[in-house]
Amino acid sequence: MALYIISNRLPLKVSKTDNEYVYERSEGGLATGLSSIQNFAEKKWIGWPGIFSDNEEEKEEIRAGLLSENFHPVFLSEDQIRDYYEGYSNSMIWPLCHYFYTYIQYETKFWKSYQYVNQLFCDEAVKILKPGDMVWIQDYQLMLLPALLRERIEGISIGYFHHIPFPSYELFRVLPERAEILKGLLGADLIGFHTHDYMRHFISAAYRVLGLDSDLDEIHYNDRVIHVDAFPMGINYDLHHDAILDKTVQKMANQFRQNFGNHKLALSVDRLDYSKGILHRLKGFSLFLERHPEYRGKVSLVMVVVPSRDKVDRYADLKTKIDEMIGAVNGTYSSLDWRPIYYFYHGFPFEELMALYHIANFALVTPLRDGMNLVAKEYVAVKRDNPGVLILSEMAGVAAELKEALIINPNDVEEIEAALLEAMLMPEPEQKKRMLKMQKTVSKQSVNKWASDFVTELNEIKMKNFLLQNKKIDIKSLKQIIEQYKRAKKRLLILDYDGTLVPIMKLPELAIPEDQLMQTLKALAADKRNSVVISSGRDADFLDKWFGELGLNLAAEHGAFYKAHGKWIENSATTFPEDDELSNIMQQIVDKTPGSRLEIKKTSMVWHYRNCDKWLADLREKQLIHALMMPCARLNLQIMRGTKVIEVKTVGFNKGTEAVRLMETDDYDFVMAMGDDITDEDMFHVLPAEAVTIKVGSISDYARFSMPQHDTINFLNSLM
Ligand code: UDP
Repeated sequence: MALYIISNRLPLKVSKTDNEYVYERSEGGLATGLSSIQNFAEKKWIGWPGIFSDNEEEKEEIRAGLLSENFHPVFLSEDQIRDYYEGYSNSMIWPLCHYFYTYIQYETKFWKSYQYVNQLFCDEAVKILKPGDMVWIQDYQLMLLPALLRERIEGISIGYFHHIPFPSYELFRVLPERAEILKGLLGADLIGFHTHDYMRHFISAAYRVLGLDSDLDEIHYNDRVIHVDAFPMGINYDLHHDAILDKTVQKMANQFRQNFGNHKLALSVDRLDYSKGILHRLKGFSLFLERHPEYRGKVSLVMVVVPSRDKVDRYADLKTKIDEMIGAVNGTYSSLDWRPIYYFYHGFPFEELMALYHIANFALVTPLRDGMNLVAKEYVAVKRDNPGVLILSEMAGVAAELKEALIINPNDVEEIEAALLEAMLMPEPEQKKRMLKMQKTVSKQSVNKWASDFVTELNEIKMKNFLLQNKKIDIKSLKQIIEQYKRAKKRLLILDYDGTLVPIMKLPELAIPEDQLMQTLKALAADKRNSVVISSGRDADFLDKWFGELGLNLAAEHGAFYKAHGKWIENSATTFPEDDELSNIMQQIVDKTPGSRLEIKKTSMVWHYRNCDKWLADLREKQLIHALMMPCARLNLQIMRGTKVIEVKTVGFNKGTEAVRLMETDDYDFVMAMGDDITDEDMFHVLPAEAVTIKVGSISDYARFSMPQHDTINFLNSLM
């Protein structure tokens, strides 16, 4: 079994010397994280090698050169990089996910190219993937790939990690291709985000765009369970924590310290990007110098900006503005022996960056939006037991973890100014105390843990989906069930009604049995060896009206009443009490929740919320259960959660107790129960292990089999 990483870029640089290609591996965080993952015979990587070529021979040469590293290239043309990568990925998805809605540039050809390139990645992957392999797709350039792969290869498990923020539905809905993107992602078994907020936004988008229900962190889609979870990405902690022990780094740190002069240093490190809040940060620093003349000459900002996408107009404009603003601040405040801002428009090698982190008294990490932000974690790790203050934007994913930082709103330049003042005044013991706490967090959540947590969870969900697929009744198990049925002399068949024998309808009065169902039930009941029971939450009147003449046994209101030998019998010892407090609570929840309704039965009251907005229904459900606690305890009533219903009922019976009672009525050698609802779990749970228990429409831990609702009547007919 192999693990395949698929990302837009392979983690290496390919360059051509006079007559041969040179491959230089770049050990990014992901590559480090992967090294910690065991249990795979092979680890392979599929992606663009970062070099253009039209020549098939050249491509073959590169392909062969990469193979020894277990890298598989997907060759892209310059047009594809322009339209798929710089176009759809970076001019559409990037600004959208970072809440820069007005920065979006949309062209139809971008989307076409995005689809085409995702397909290209799929084509390359299927050439080498085998059943049983695990695929881990990285990031927003490949959001269609999970579904494309799922269609093409069976028996692989697919994970996807989204490295940037996932925006709120209100923003995501702007995307013309929102449904296609979501369906693409939902091809995965596991979808990971950095934070719970992004995860929440994704689940909400799946519900609002595709109408998909979720159960906590699981989305049910196309007979599969898709798990959604938060995996905050970490760094190689030891590498950063121990960096300053290296003699070269120490020497550099001393040298830098001398060069910058003997005053405090605030450090910022970002790629050139509008999401990083560089201009706001400069404004905040400038405001600090303006309002606090006493600190002029006592603190400098060391600003590292790593060039990125600077051929794109918007990035070039941003660069010009940064240059201008730094010029203005330095021009205004510089003195002969002090410079307010040291500006570097280039990247630093690892050792130099570590030396900068080490000497920086404060780090200013103030992005307007950032999926995670690793600079903040690196600064914390490098500090060891030295003082230091992290000023951190609440809009960075990392803010969910580093609570001891000075958290600011990066849009509010006055907050940046105030945080700088607080940092200047913070006593060293307090700085160290906070650093230590943050180091604990960062060291636990390393990049190794991030990668192995993701893969472990992907394995678990793979097992779950495997079980789920195994529970589906296939030809073999169908044959076995039919054989058992045919052999049996006394059969008990317990059938739920709504969602099992008929599809769930928006209004219960619309869910009436069709002729075909009536014929099937009649035929089943006509066989003397069968005892056929419809066990439903519906009341006795409804069941009698439709099935009273068919010679079936009936159980109404989840077993509160049953009809045997033509007579209705009450199972419940208690009657439902008349109580003003209870009635008021139930009525109020209906009044406050458009689309919901109340059903009053002899032994229960039911609040139905199938036709309500999900968010509102979730809120009301919690409120209702909370409000019902006391009166139900006082009246000895039970609160039962069904599918899209809350039922308050008298105690002492449920579909499980009814199933037990039915089992005792005779000596059955074939027992079958079918149901779709949470309330049907009670009967699956109590029936003997050899009973044919079938969960309709989804899977259950207790039922042995599962089946889609549209197959139920055909299945019953196939028994006879
Ligand atoms: N970085 C670097 N050299 C530099 C500046 C930054 O190698 O001169 C690295 C830094 O150590 C960090 C990464 O670039 O690991 C930036 O990651 P982050 O999550 O902060 O931002 P991103 O660029 O991914 O949005």
